[in-house]
Amino acid sequence: MLDDVLSEKLSGIKESGLLRNLRLISSSPAANIIIYGKKFMNFSSNNYLDLAGNKEVNKAALEAAQKYGFGGTSSRLVGGHLAVHEQLETELAAFKNKQASLVFASGYQTNLGVLSALGCIENTCIIMDKLNHASLWDGTKLSGARIFVYEHCDMESFESVLKRTKSYKLKLAVTESVFSMDGDFVPLRDFTNLCIKYGATSIVDEAHSTGVFGKEGRGLADECEVSDKVDITIGTLSKAFAVQGGFVCGSRKFIDFLINKSRAFIYSTAISPAIAGAALKSLEIVKKSDDKREHLRKNSEYLREKLDKAGLNTSNSQTQIIPVVTGSNECTRELSQALLKNGIYVPAIRFPTVPEGQARIRISLTAGHNLSDIENISNQIIENRK
Ligand SMILES: *Cc1c(COP(=O)(O)O)cnc(C)c1O
Repeated sequence: MLDDVLSEKLSGIKESGLLRNLRLISSSPAANIIIYGKKFMNFSSNNYLDLAGNKEVNKAALEAAQKYGFGGTSSRLVGGHLAVHEQLETELAAFKNKQASLVFASGYQTNLGVLSALGCIENTCIIMDKLNHASLWDGTKLSGARIFVYEHCDMESFESVLKRTKSYKLKLAVTESVFSMDGDFVPLRDFTNLCIKYGATSIVDEAHSTGVFGKEGRGLADECEVSDKVDITIGTLSKAFAVQGGFVCGSRKFIDFLINKSRAFIYSTAISPAIAGAALKSLEIVKKSDDKREHLRKNSEYLREKLDKAGLNTSNSQTQIIPVVTGSNECTRELSQALLKNGIYVPAIRFPTVPEGQARIRISLTAGHNLSDIENISNQIIENRK
């Protein structure tokens, strides 16, 4: 019965051209990858500082595993709070210049755990950028709080929502810093100033900017010099850090509240001590990777300008995430296929990950790409566009 129902569902997805499939990769997910036995240049990963497979990180993971074992074995509150977790959280809090931090099993779980816990407080509303990440939406929905939405990165629209939410005691204003599918960023100065003006709590998800922007890779808030105005900052250890897990930083009181009320934290086993050890080493490397950040910035600028000049639509990208929006699912799929034929893997992104009519390939640059890779991909895109 179940399979009959699901088979009908899957046919429906297939008919609308939106069926998703897994691709088998048999190498480290770095700049060059092996898909089904064939070598490709990889433009799909969020491995921004090229730390995937880094030997020092691998060694740190092994050392932590040898000391603590590989599994966390119980939740942090029960018996899984190891010294390596404590050290990681202390260093992440210092990195983000906040009083305290808390690590979760993933960035997704962090957003679920933070928003569902805060949003449950009585007389709270959550104010969301329309294009916020699915994990932020899921946490928001789970909380049951009233949701208000403003137009993407539009500070006039944001202010008009703030004016309408004055009666709520807690107003949680949530945005990504760098948006994952457009590679654009929110004007963080204006955003935080508006939060202060209207007494809203600012929550900024820096999944794609941590490691890439700011002094020592502290993120976009640091680069915009508004770290102290951001109340709660969220990051992931899975992107530039190339490890696994998510984290949130804020006041000591806020972290204490999460330890007591965040179900995604309380009812989940502590992250692997090997992962925590790896993340500590990765953080150390991220901080001293200015040369990689500069390399990435230059290459991103070069690629964006070249595609823009050729008349392609790179949305409002200003970062290492560069979409080429073709609009139709068909065109996007064809472009992605043509690139694949030429040894370049760039994923096609379609509804519901992006709004309907906004299908695109999403190029994700890393410090592992060099200028000839950039020339290669841009020439191929320009030749194969429809
Ligand atoms: C990737 C991403 C997450 C989820 O992080 P994971 O560690 O991959 O679970 C959260 N927020 C944003 C904006 C992201 O892009």
